[in-house]
Amino acid sequence: MRAEYEEGPAPGERDAEIRIWHMVRLDGTTAMCGRELSPGAATKPADAWGTPEAEPFCHSCGALYLREVP
Ligand SMILES: [Zn+2]
Repeated sequence: MRAEYEEGPAPGERDAEIRIWHMVRLDGTTAMCGRELSPGAATKPADAWGTPEAEPFCHSCGALYLREVP
């Protein structure tokens, strides 16, 4: 999963505020919901999906991801 940031500090900067987490394939920058994310944005392993550290999470990505995971 990869972070989408609030407007303001560039992704990767210390004060950048994460708006929402999206699910991406491998290390891609296109979220499953179609959102383009910055290559410099923070990432988390897919294992973190569904845990409090991945909140808030994009609902579109969550629904699509659920459909793919057995
Ligand atoms: Zn998404």
